[in-house]
Amino acid sequence: MAKINENYLKLQGSYLFQTVARKVREFEADNPNAGLIKLGIGDVTQPIAPAILKAMHNAVDEMGAANTFHGYAPDLGYEFLRTAIAENEFKKRGISIEPDEIFVSDGAKSDCSNIQEIFDQNSLVAVCDPVYPVYVDSNVMAGRAGDFSEENRIYNRLIYMPCTESNGFIPDFPKINPDLIYLCFPNNPTGVAITKERLQAWVDYALKIGAVILYDAAYEAYINDDTLPHSIFECSGAEYCAIEFRSFSKNAGFTGLRLGYTVISKKLKLSDKSVHAMWARRHGTKYNGAPYIIQRAGEAVYSPEGNKQIKEQIATYMKNALFLKTALKDAGYTVYGGENAPYIWLKTPHGLSSWEFFDLLLNRARIVGTPGSGFGPNGEGFFRLTAFGTYENSVEAIERIRTL
Ligand code: PLP
Repeated sequence: MAKINENYLKLQGSYLFQTVARKVREFEADNPNAGLIKLGIGDVTQPIAPAILKAMHNAVDEMGAANTFHGYAPDLGYEFLRTAIAENEFKKRGISIEPDEIFVSDGAKSDCSNIQEIFDQNSLVAVCDPVYPVYVDSNVMAGRAGDFSEENRIYNRLIYMPCTESNGFIPDFPKINPDLIYLCFPNNPTGVAITKERLQAWVDYALKIGAVILYDAAYEAYINDDTLPHSIFECSGAEYCAIEFRSFSKNAGFTGLRLGYTVISKKLKLSDKSVHAMWARRHGTKYNGAPYIIQRAGEAVYSPEGNKQIKEQIATYMKNALFLKTALKDAGYTVYGGENAPYIWLKTPHGLSSWEFFDLLLNRARIVGTPGSGFGPNGEGFFRLTAFGTYENSVEAIERIRTL
């Protein structure tokens, strides 16, 4: 008799953004002309840059002629894209990552969940709190959640690492040694970036205890401060203990096109077994490749024109981020992030809970943000705004918050 996977029953409530969406739907049904400003979900709003669009059009035409048609893509991605990534994202920064250490995929969300499969089922997994919910929920689905032990802040196999004002939202090493450590910098939701020294300390720690760091660098393109690391592979020894996830979603607006990649050095071995070889096996078996048209679009991100155009887009978002941060500070709010990431992490005023502040902003200022508590217990009392709106909307949002 078929049985369900009971782990799914342990997932808490509905996914954060579904709850936000439901509340917004209900509000809009009651207030049809409310003129809501949506600074909640972390989706980009600018269209695909012209140079990238052109590359896609060309690729579409190629698909229509027998001699240029492309069927199944190579397992690990087309050579042209992997070479462009290795060259532009790593070699130019002095990092030695080879094209065959890059696995092209349909995005970072699926990769950072699926990667768990190649590790022991009983792995102890450390995540930040607050955290991008996907790391937690995918581990719950895999059976790693259970009863909570307050002493070590651990739910069965899942260790929560508090990221608070007092540690500058960069986690301290947990009390119990984890096997896998999820880190994401620049961070979603706090918008905080990590210094090279702090990241190096995490790499040294992972090497010492034999853990693997699962490093999500989906927002590296938003780093303004030249001293900050764009990749964990800038740290010495990371090739022996880290896997990095990258995405074309936030740097080039591919959230609807879907393209990302995972980097695993061939030097990463566990009990003498190559992690690279295991992921190659998994990728080849369960994934049939990102579309040719989208991989050509990804290649165009690295063309001189494409690169210039996406940098302009990012600058537009970061102009919003800077404006929101400065204006909120001027209005008396305590604000974090927003300098090297498209997220503003603000402390709710007057001791309001995250959801109370969400309701207040929605009902009285007609602004949608994301309650910090949805990202984990330590997100309570915080609120996330994104810089992905238009500049005009960001200005209007601040106006409304001021009158509030
Ligand atoms: N990682 C983080 C930290 C994110 O915030 C997001 C999306 O919001 C993703 C990964 C998803 O990336 P992708 O669109 O490539 O799946």
